[in-house]
Amino acid sequence: MSIDSLTALVRTIPDFPKPGIQFRDITTLLADGPGLAELIDQMAKVAGPLDPDLIVGVEARGFILGAALALKLGKGFVPVRKKGKLPGKTVGIDYVLEYGTDRLELHEGQVPQGARVLLVDDLIATGGTAQAAARLLREQGAQVLMALFAIDLPDLGGLAALEQDGVPSRAILLFE
Ligand code: IMP
Repeated sequence: MSIDSLTALVRTIPDFPKPGIQFRDITTLLADGPGLAELIDQMAKVAGPLDPDLIVGVEARGFILGAALALKLGKGFVPVRKKGKLPGKTVGIDYVLEYGTDRLELHEGQVPQGARVLLVDDLIATGGTAQAAARLLREQGAQVLMALFAIDLPDLGGLAALEQDGVPSRAILLFE
């Protein structure tokens, strides 16, 4: 399947979650068997050669893609969740959003010191979420080999912001 066909499987929903936002909805791609397989193949082609120890996915759509990629690469999967969702003892990081702050958390000890991890999410916009996740992983002593996304919105500069933090970053699909 071509990248154009894969791109066409992503639905755009205007004015969600608020007026003026064009929400790129991957549920239509996920619901398409060949499309989902192609996306995970493309992500595996980028991530496989890095041979990460672990795949870390960011809530919530990063769980879907990250778990599929982990299975394909034969690696374990670790979730990074929003505040208060993980049942065990956590480590976390607060980060600034457009309005207010939020917190990402990880189960303590689940990413060992020195682990070589691949960070996965469905989409990168400003990069704030992924930057916070990468910082949290580094605070645990992990090496973030790459942050990999299904979709980049290049106008918002997220990949560049991550690269500036020293995190190599890639996306499979671009939406200008
Ligand atoms: P950032 O922190 O500005 O890079 O926003 C990225 C985070 O917001 C990711 O966790 C995405 O899942 C979510 N996000 C932002 N915009 C969209 C969108 O258009 N479609 C799907 N997810 C989005």
